[in-house]
Amino acid sequence: MIQITILGSGTCVPTKRRGTPGIAIRSKSSWVLVDGGSGTLSRMASAGIDYTAVDYLLYTHIHPDHTLDLISLLFAMNYTPGYERDRALDIIGPRGFKKFFEDLSRPYPWIRPKSFPMDVMEVTDEYFSVGYLGVQAAEVNHGDLPSVAYRFTNDAETMVISGDTEFCDEIVDLSRKTDLLLCEASFPTDEFDTQMHLSASLAGRVACLAQVKNLALYHFYPVCDEYDMKVLCAKEYDGRIIITEDLMELEINQKTLRVINNRTHP
Ligand SMILES: [Zn+2]
Ligand SMILES: [Zn+2]
Repeated sequence: MIQITILGSGTCVPTKRRGTPGIAIRSKSSWVLVDGGSGTLSRMASAGIDYTAVDYLLYTHIHPDHTLDLISLLFAMNYTPGYERDRALDIIGPRGFKKFFEDLSRPYPWIRPKSFPMDVMEVTDEYFSVGYLGVQAAEVNHGDLPSVAYRFTNDAETMVISGDTEFCDEIVDLSRKTDLLLCEASFPTDEFDTQMHLSASLAGRVACLAQVKNLALYHFYPVCDEYDMKVLCAKEYDGRIIITEDLMELEINQKTLRVINNRTHP
């Protein structure tokens, strides 16, 4: 079983409905966090996810809407009164992430771990594991910025998180026959600037070419909410399409996808 919580389904543009991208994946008693911009930590609190139980932080790329709460999270892990972390923390990101972290920790020395072992690692196309989940990384195209998508596998199920990407073979190949593709759809149609991103129809094309079993869309700029994203996406993909919301929970169990709940953030 793979359980995920959408912490933020939006972008850098703040709206009441959609926060910055962040996805939490349950790994038995701990959590894997994939991306986390400003506000992700408070969305975790709203979702009832204990930030001290996060053991793996995966980043798709360093754009601020995907990384800003790395600072907040590490600061909280170091300076929560009465809490002293001893469990290890692994941070994984694309090429350049080690330097990014070193650079960040100069003005913010408080993010260097006080009491716990921490590794910062870079991946391109490696296979590694986070808890009981195997992870295949693949570099995708997001302008000049090194960016990766991740494919998660347990013994039975698979799920891909696209991060930010334009249409490219790499995201299609990584997503092939996966049970769930959580795919960015920054814009409604290709009339918008999809140079570094996907539209609903392009996300549908990725899902169709990759023959994925279920497609969930996220990373919506506000204009997306003025369109019927599902209808636009369904022009290219005839499988199940889910328009994610903040705090939506998804579960893949015995290869069947269930939307556990769909709480609307106040
Ligand atoms: Zn983004
Ligand atoms: Zn980006």
